[in-house]
Amino acid sequence: MYGNPDQVTAGKSQPGHSASPGEAKRGAGRYAPSPSGELHVGNLRTALLAWALARHDGLEFRLRIEDLDERSRAAYEAVQLRDLELLGIDWDGEIIRQSRRLDIYTGILDGLRRRGLLYECYCTRRDLAQVASAPHRPPGSYPGTCRNLTAEERAVRLAKLEHRGPALRLKTDTPAISLHDRFCGDYTGAVDDLVLCRGDGVFSYNFTAIVDDALMGITQIVRGDDLLPSTPRQIYLQRILGYGQPEYAHVPLVLNSRGVRLAKRDGAVTLGRLRDLGVGVPDLLEKMSVSLGFPPVGSAEEFLSVFSPEQAVLRPWMFSADMFL
Ligand code: GLU
Repeated sequence: MYGNPDQVTAGKSQPGHSASPGEAKRGAGRYAPSPSGELHVGNLRTALLAWALARHDGLEFRLRIEDLDERSRAAYEAVQLRDLELLGIDWDGEIIRQSRRLDIYTGILDGLRRRGLLYECYCTRRDLAQVASAPHRPPGSYPGTCRNLTAEERAVRLAKLEHRGPALRLKTDTPAISLHDRFCGDYTGAVDDLVLCRGDGVFSYNFTAIVDDALMGITQIVRGDDLLPSTPRQIYLQRILGYGQPEYAHVPLVLNSRGVRLAKRDGAVTLGRLRDLGVGVPDLLEKMSVSLGFPPVGSAEEFLSVFSPEQAVLRPWMFSADMFL
């Protein structure tokens, strides 16, 4: 059910972004990288799982480039797409780029504003860091500092902002939402007044991801489990916008040899750097497959043939290029 005709119209007025009726019926999974660097082994393993689960379930598989952040570079996008192809991942339809969809996000944000669901937030990073560590609140959740300010209070806080405007937050009315995750099981997490548009004018990840997933006809979301705590907020926003709820399957992250979430600075963790060490895509796929509890394989297609979601061993995987020595 679409709750608000404004939002649907805003979406439909843009050509080439809504799923065709056939696509919507079949459903689709997706991978949505941010082109702010090369994909590392953790990103690639999540992409492989997202692709394999969609293909296993007979869904389409779509790609979306989340390139709104100023750190995004076309050169990184090109390398990411090349590496996904090298891994053997294929996708359906055109690649969606968020930077080309600003009119859609603006239209939907305007609809929420007309419904009286937005407010300006003048909190600085420092303010937010202080409230984030406050006791008796879910970590990182916003306590609504700017939600009920008087006109004078707003003017005072606005005047203090330097080099940026206020952020726009959604007025929420639910403290928490529960969901069932295909890989992680039942999960309950906090809902707070999430940012939809940042003080520098950039639409937020939570907002644009929800809008795009709905308009692209995405019915299955596989991604890193660092995003599980954001999912209740995203579901809240889906409900406000009248969008259906996709299936979620969050994947444990890949860790470095110190047990910390893998990052590019961990050395040979990209396809390019591994290739320099003489480690090829089949070598990496073999280790990835074994890390998920499946026999060693040498290609993505082969991985798909051994993959079964019920049998996947989903726990953090410690990765180091030393494992190829
Ligand atoms: N661009 C986000 C990331 O790279 C994607 C998150 C998502 O899949 O929803 O972390």
